[in-house]
Amino acid sequence: MTQHLPSSQVAQVEFKSFALSKALIERIDALGYRHPTAVQQASIPIILDGADLQAHAKTGSGKTAAFALPLLHLMENNETTYDAREARCLVLVPTRELAQQVADSFMSYGAGLNGVIKVRAVFGGVSVNEQMQVLGRGVDVLVATPGRLLDLVKQNAVQLSKIQHLVLDEADRMLNLGFQEELAELLDMLPSQKQTLFFSATFPEDVAELSHRLLQAPQVVSVENQV
Ligand code: ADP
Ligand code: MG
Repeated sequence: MTQHLPSSQVAQVEFKSFALSKALIERIDALGYRHPTAVQQASIPIILDGADLQAHAKTGSGKTAAFALPLLHLMENNETTYDAREARCLVLVPTRELAQQVADSFMSYGAGLNGVIKVRAVFGGVSVNEQMQVLGRGVDVLVATPGRLLDLVKQNAVQLSKIQHLVLDEADRMLNLGFQEELAELLDMLPSQKQTLFFSATFPEDVAELSHRLLQAPQVVSVENQV
């Protein structure tokens, strides 16, 4: 099912209307977010439901919170225990700036969860050793660029066999930057049973093809011409 959302439907919805924990709602309020954006309004219930999702909405439309909020909620309510190096949520991004930005957003939105969910960012261009040490102290949400993540996996700094949620953020830029092979190698390491979320500003043929390959019976959210 595809949801196309005109802006007229957006303003009235409240974050409170989603099945998000009180701590998350309070945090959103403290950050001054009054109403969910269109992509958040459509995506949050789908993700909370555990479905796969393909979402496209332009830059600045609030895609990070659209996936971070429901994923934090799902992780907060999952009682499974994990070893220190076993990540449960993997967010793949094309650049180090974006890795840091998305990790900061997860930390900010999850600030009321008392540090129970550890968020780590790994990317190239900085020392591997430091990232290995940080991962050794535990990781729940791992935000990563593909190349550095492959290095770290090969050195056993982190394990991907328990990943329950996979996000491809800025999938279009990831393909434009030539990450196809590294992506394929990483995706092969993940469990086949997981929730996969695909976020992109544009939806050219190669992105559609990758999305089709990765997602199982996905819900589709497409937000046009507005934030
Ligand atoms: P995108 O990934 O779609 O480019 P971001 O997730 O980076 O967008 O969000 C863009 C900006 O909008 C950020 O500064 C973020 O804090 C802000 N933002 C996100 N959701 C809301 C909201 N519901 N209300 C107000 N500001 C928001
Ligand atoms: Mg974004």
